[in-house]
Amino acid sequence: MPENRNPVIGLLGGGQLGRMLCEAANPLGIDIAILDEENSPAKQAHNTNLHVTGSFKDPARIRELAAQSDFLSVEIEHVETEVLEDIEENGVEVKQADGSTKTHRPPVHPSWRTIRLIQDKYLQKEHFRNSDKAIPIADQVAIASGPDALISLGNAATKFGFPFMLKARKGSYDGRGNFKVDSEADFEAAVQALGGLSLYAEKWAPFVKELAVMVIRTEDDKGSLKSCVAYPAVETIHEDSICTKVFMPPRDVSETICEAAKKLATEVISTLWGRGVFAVEMFVLEDGSLMVNEVAPRPHNSGHYTIEAVPHMSQYKAQIHAVLDLPVPSKLTSRVPSAIMLNILGGATPSAHLKLAELARDAFDDDMDVYLHLYNKASKPGRKIGHITLTGTSTIQDLEAKAKPFIDLVDQIRQ
Ligand code: ATP
Ligand code: MG
Ligand code: MG
Repeated sequence: MPENRNPVIGLLGGGQLGRMLCEAANPLGIDIAILDEENSPAKQAHNTNLHVTGSFKDPARIRELAAQSDFLSVEIEHVETEVLEDIEENGVEVKQADGSTKTHRPPVHPSWRTIRLIQDKYLQKEHFRNSDKAIPIADQVAIASGPDALISLGNAATKFGFPFMLKARKGSYDGRGNFKVDSEADFEAAVQALGGLSLYAEKWAPFVKELAVMVIRTEDDKGSLKSCVAYPAVETIHEDSICTKVFMPPRDVSETICEAAKKLATEVISTLWGRGVFAVEMFVLEDGSLMVNEVAPRPHNSGHYTIEAVPHMSQYKAQIHAVLDLPVPSKLTSRVPSAIMLNILGGATPSAHLKLAELARDAFDDDMDVYLHLYNKASKPGRKIGHITLTGTSTIQDLEAKAKPFIDLVDQIRQ
């Protein structure tokens, strides 16, 4: 890294997570070079001539990004890991001012190994189950593709009973690769819906709550784990498989379970490779035990609240510190007693969300601060186009009561 300029993190993907990463990087004097379409949400938030135009799935553009970056990172796990592996092992050729070329080898964080494993949800969970930490996951079986799929589904039903969850192994987000199978009558429709994708079936998890914990993972340059530090546990609400709301602290979940969730999350992340922030999604079962649903190797929707609630080390600042191997705190506590994050999803009409933005802009209350984040994305039904974080001066129950007009409007927009 040359001494006379800012460190550069090359980021694959320029959506809202990249945008908020840029917002955290700007005051720190860190450059983020974004690989994505022209004028993507992240590029709007950071002015540099280092951005690359193109697809974050295009190996040639990824190499171009690598050539001008000190580190590479991702805002989305659905990327080409082969090229990341090749860049880290063999580097890219960079032209020098005198016309000669030099091999440049920017480290990739988190490791391409982690990204590749997490991309396949089935393998991801097999890894967790088989790790020496014996992490609890739902029972799962791979489903045959092609004409044997129906037989394979029948075997899954015999094993798990109904309902069970059929999931795409790769490429899914916001529940778009999931299908709840209630009976044999659903088999055809399930295969149709997820047609052509490599699938697996998961035993239904009869959860009473969903929690998520963000973890900062640090490692030295030789790949030895330095620390895994957890943020407070949050409650996530999913509607139609998409996260709509986050509550910190979780409502009606004991301190003991929250601490257990943090411990489990750090164990999960300790089995992976590379530096950065990670999200661990979990289920709380009836008996209070925890089960890991999945991991995201990047800043996450459930961690947006940290911008206001953990302002000294938001998940975005943490991503920058971790990737650059700068210090991170050994303990992460919220600076407010309670916070609620509401996703603004595109409504039935392009402007349905505007009412919500207006409500947020005009709300002032001694016991509730309101923070609006719009991503400047075109509105489409169900698309995440912004979020609102509300922070409270007392309990989560009090804050929820105060936030009712916001919650009601969020629910109304989705109709
Ligand atoms: P994300 O946007 O979080 O990446 P995704 O498309 O990867 O979502 P999952 O996290 O697998 O999807 O599932 C989405 C939601 O579906 C979960 O948060 C949970 O509400 C529900 N769900 C998933 N798996 C199960 C299961 N085995 N049993 C019951 N509900 C489940
Ligand atoms: Mg997922
Ligand atoms: Mg999920």
